[in-house]
Amino acid sequence: MALYKYSVPDKLINENGIRVDGRKYNDLRPYSFKVGVLPKCDGSAYVEMGGNKILAGVYGPRKVQPRHISQANLAVIRTTYRMATFSVDERKSPAPSRREVELSLVIRTALEPAIFASYYPKTLIDIFIQVLAADGGTRCASINAASLALADAGIAMRDLVTAVAVGMVGDQIVLDLCDLEDKEGDADLPIAMLPQNNEITLLQFDGQMTKDQFLEAINLGMFGIKQIYKAQQEAIRAKFKDISEGISEMEGEEEDQEEEPREREFERENEGEPED
Ligand code: ADP
Repeated sequence: MALYKYSVPDKLINENGIRVDGRKYNDLRPYSFKVGVLPKCDGSAYVEMGGNKILAGVYGPRKVQPRHISQANLAVIRTTYRMATFSVDERKSPAPSRREVELSLVIRTALEPAIFASYYPKTLIDIFIQVLAADGGTRCASINAASLALADAGIAMRDLVTAVAVGMVGDQIVLDLCDLEDKEGDADLPIAMLPQNNEITLLQFDGQMTKDQFLEAINLGMFGIKQIYKAQQEAIRAKFKDISEGISEMEGEEEDQEEEPREREFERENEGEPED
């Protein structure tokens, strides 16, 4: 059975430096972020990065269940990463895999430094991530989605957490690996950061690089993270712009309703008056 719907090309990057999906080494895939997409939880976000489609929902701070995991001085942060059965080319088993359990932990570790957990002692902050379509770099896209959902839930945070995977194809460092580059490339380096202070909260590495290549990869990752961070901030602003526009429309309608009787009173008073 074919591993990919598409065939694997001989080279992942051509002599002109163009990658399999037409990007240059420092291009991100197209991305979009939307905040407040699920009505039932306290905060939510939907993220697309390349072919990744990911939903994150946050409940909390809320009562800790089971109670024995409660912490006296901190909120417990629980993260659940799951891939939908239809998210990959071959049907994925609906049972949670070891990879999903590991990625739940990895994502939580990347998010925790951003959260003021001591503000919410004896509570639980539950983060659920559902990968609807996977296209390489789902852990990074999930971190981006989860940090937006946390902000949407009003959880106090030092900064958003922003993530991207950098990698190597041949001897070229490339930004934001697609699925094929992730699987067939020579190195994979997912990075998550608190972008305001350039604090790294996640750094994983699979493959081989020289020290110079490694430093180049970190710099390229930071270049991508700054762009993604801006888009995350815009997504949050867009949600609150919608809310404030909704409030001013409601206020406008209330004012109209208040003014209506006075207008009618005026019209009645002037009824029957002879015109000049
Ligand atoms: P990440 O998604 O963070 O890059 P991995 O390196 O483990 O994490 O996975 C790389 C890619 O492999 C995923 O983004 C996804 O496209 C694909 N993949 C992961 N799990 C499966 C699976 N069970 N079946 C098919 N493809 C998968």
